[in-house]
Amino acid sequence: MSTKLNEFGIEKTLKNLGISTENDGVSCGGKYFASGDLLESYSPNDGQLIATIKTANSSDYAAVIENAKSAFKEFRMIPAPKRGEIVRQFGIKLREYKDDLGKLVSYEMGKSLQEGLGEVQEMIDICDFAVGLSRQLHGYTMHSERPGHRMYEQYHPLGIVGIISAFNFPVAVWSWNTALAWICGNVTVWKPSEKTPLCAIACQNIISQVLKENNLPEGISNMLVGDHRIGEELVNDKNVALVSFTGSTKVGRIVGTNVAQRFGKSILELGGNNAIIITENADLNMSIIGAVFGAVGTAGQRCTSTRRLIIHESVYEDVKNRLVKAYGQLKIGNSLDESNHVGPLIDKDAVKQYQDSIEKCRQQGGKFVVEGGVLSGENYSSGCYVKPCIAEVENSYEIVQHETFAPILYLIKYKTLEEAIALQNGVPQGLSSAIMTQDLREAELFLSQVGSDCGIANVNIGTSGAEIGGAFGGEKETGGGRESGSDVWKYYMRRQTNTINYTDSLPLAQGIKFDL
Ligand code: NAD
Repeated sequence: MSTKLNEFGIEKTLKNLGISTENDGVSCGGKYFASGDLLESYSPNDGQLIATIKTANSSDYAAVIENAKSAFKEFRMIPAPKRGEIVRQFGIKLREYKDDLGKLVSYEMGKSLQEGLGEVQEMIDICDFAVGLSRQLHGYTMHSERPGHRMYEQYHPLGIVGIISAFNFPVAVWSWNTALAWICGNVTVWKPSEKTPLCAIACQNIISQVLKENNLPEGISNMLVGDHRIGEELVNDKNVALVSFTGSTKVGRIVGTNVAQRFGKSILELGGNNAIIITENADLNMSIIGAVFGAVGTAGQRCTSTRRLIIHESVYEDVKNRLVKAYGQLKIGNSLDESNHVGPLIDKDAVKQYQDSIEKCRQQGGKFVVEGGVLSGENYSSGCYVKPCIAEVENSYEIVQHETFAPILYLIKYKTLEEAIALQNGVPQGLSSAIMTQDLREAELFLSQVGSDCGIANVNIGTSGAEIGGAFGGEKETGGGRESGSDVWKYYMRRQTNTINYTDSLPLAQGIKFDL
């Protein structure tokens, strides 16, 4: 164990989460299928190797699917409220492990400690939501056109739900899916991002404890560490009824096509290109806070990060000057140090993409009012720290149409609200959007059918983050999927319409006669 890990107390955190970093590979509370290549997990905070982990190969995959299939036979027979009880216990365990898990998220992924803890809180919240829902998996009843007949709808579990997740929400996205999938009677197979495997192992350890304490099969919750190859196995496997994929539009396009090819179901949660419209009637203090947090929080690596500000010409210069001042006060550094506002990017590839985007923006005519750059020196030894920057652009620039997963904020000027809405909608993605205004008419136009075309549209709140109670997801190249609250549970079940005839004759529908 390196001294650096000790310095941040990470050694203790890993131990508390049941992760031993001895030899190659880690121990896991549950059955851990990993006989493939080795994978190294580094912290973007300080570049330290945290652990070397064995990954899963094809034979591990096959074993996991067999386990999942057999666990499903048992789990689907347990009444939904009893399955809710398992999720309730999981939520309690998460409360116990919140500090450790939040810290590991912060160290392995690089988001601030507060955001790491917030991510675990989201896991707890979705558990609470799912517990209540486990008593409300309702269908409609309807009147039959035939006398003596009854019609109703019911929902059954799907079977195996595959979850493929991105690095930027290394634990929350899994729990959004699992909490719902489990109460619906499904078993889950998770392929976490290969950039945050330890967070996934920690989660698997926590749920394994709950399953053991309830004498339930471990195959209810499975996890396979690996790269795209394990993801592809899940995507192409007919045994996997639903693939819930969170990641880039580029990969999502392949996943969506391949799952559809085998008539599987998919939930696609892909990239965003989110904008805030700041109107002439906006509260500018609120607007600045919303914009800065949205653009630099998680170092611009949220799917809901604010990437574009569409600002009315009358307040444009004022907003720009305030932003420049706010950016001057940002503290960049180790995400575990709570005095820092901005942590590192996930890895050096992400830094390269940030640099390339800045270069392209300049070439396409962008004018930087806050310059970017990669930070160096003792505090930035991982090479993953970059300066949040701001450029004045046109919405039509190719780079502005593209999601760069880094803290680059684009400023765009507008004259009329109709024009601002067209600019907001004028990108291929459709995840999150917001308007800052104190004018009811402006707010309602933005929310109307000729307003924002995104899955999320906010008034006087930024684009970033969401509560678990609502359905989360976006339109167009964001994939159209929905996760989390509202009636999203229906995605995790198969719908069945039942008609029961309690007479002694067999009338056909639509008055058709068939006499023998
Ligand atoms: P990514 O697309 O590179 O990887 C996502 C996951 O897909 C990883 O687990 C990866 O191993 C796996 N994968 C890669 N190729 C695959 C293949 N061919 N088949 C199956 N799986 C494959 O994304 P990332 O860099 O980890 O995450 C950032 C992206 O995720 C951003 O675009 C961001 O907007 C998006 N994201 C979206 C949401 C949302 O809810 N809309 C949430 C979080 C992140």
